[in-house]
Amino acid sequence: MKKLSVYVHIPFCVKKCDYCDFLSAPADENTKTEYVDRLLEEIEKEAENYRDYMVVSVFFGGGTPSVLKKEDTARIMSALREHYKIAETAEITSEVNPKTADDNKLKAYREMGINRLSIGLQSADDKELKTLGRVHNYSDFLEVYKAARKAGFQNINIDIMSALPGQTPESYRKTVERVLKLQPEHISAYSLIIEEGTPFYSRYGEEDELRKKSGKSCIEENGKQGSEMLHLPDEEEEREMYMLTGELLENYGYHRYEISNYAKENYECRHNKAYWERQDYVGFGIGAASLVQNVRFQNKRDIKGYLSGDFEKEEVDTLTEKESMEEFMFLGLRLMCGVSKEQFLMQFGIPMEQVYDDVLNKMEKQGLLVNGNERVCLTGKGLDISNYVMAQFLLDGEIAVG
Ligand code: SF4
Repeated sequence: MKKLSVYVHIPFCVKKCDYCDFLSAPADENTKTEYVDRLLEEIEKEAENYRDYMVVSVFFGGGTPSVLKKEDTARIMSALREHYKIAETAEITSEVNPKTADDNKLKAYREMGINRLSIGLQSADDKELKTLGRVHNYSDFLEVYKAARKAGFQNINIDIMSALPGQTPESYRKTVERVLKLQPEHISAYSLIIEEGTPFYSRYGEEDELRKKSGKSCIEENGKQGSEMLHLPDEEEEREMYMLTGELLENYGYHRYEISNYAKENYECRHNKAYWERQDYVGFGIGAASLVQNVRFQNKRDIKGYLSGDFEKEEVDTLTEKESMEEFMFLGLRLMCGVSKEQFLMQFGIPMEQVYDDVLNKMEKQGLLVNGNERVCLTGKGLDISNYVMAQFLLDGEIAVG
């Protein structure tokens, strides 16, 4: 039976964080319940397309899925179980934000079969959390983490972020050390990206550009030291934080299995791995993306339309062979284990070398990747400049088959 991963998008948050450009917003209780009503309809309506699939992972993301009442989350889980075949061993994750879940809710999650939590901490420094516009502080996070363990969760991810305004390598180290003390099974460590259209972009967009160009901090460039405004770390500090993540986490028994993800043995996130390995996945809820049998499609991002029952997919895009190969390479190379030559051959009926021989040789000579007999993966140096390496796998001409 074919495998399927399911993503459920919950586009609600208590309040919008200042750096966030995800599809999410605050909403009243009626809207949330109505949204769940429509989700159930979409889940049921789509089921006929996935009769011969076994669901191996479910991921509630957002937004903040934990803003839903536990009864609403239970309704979604029941609908999934009623209309899809869910493997007994399926990984079922919900993102959780501190301040939106308590003992009761987490216990209910366990009872409905959710077996993995992803908690958004971002920083263990209350000042940094405030700057980010998060609704919680560190002790709220600790409370929810303890409640999760008490409820029986044995697979927990904690999200942290570096390169925050006002953050220093020392304060970042403290965040990492505090997280390590808790020994979660999985840690996702991302670097802040200043996204257009966010309050952070108006505050830091210019500084970010300047810093990227010069490699220096705004303080050095403009002599603004002493002003009230916090500043982004310079490139050197950012690099120090990046190196620190790898060093500390590896010392504590976490292995890096993807550019920004670390896990204890056997606790890699199966759902996210399915994305990077281009396995079939379907998304429910506004803006949710899907990839099924090489066709990419996405739900509309319009909540009003969705609430009125418009589940129409947009941007239906059947990937060409060339696009599929490119995706195979640059998604797969995000994983430390890299890409399999045998899988490439199985998927495309042509050896990887026949398409990418020049790039593989060039990147190997530059010490950026290891071109083994069975797999191709990035080296440490390649990981540091992964965007550059991945861009090399874009194909501009025809593929020589023969
Ligand atoms: S909680 Fe997450 S999704 Fe919601 S606004 Fe903050 S960063 Fe965005």
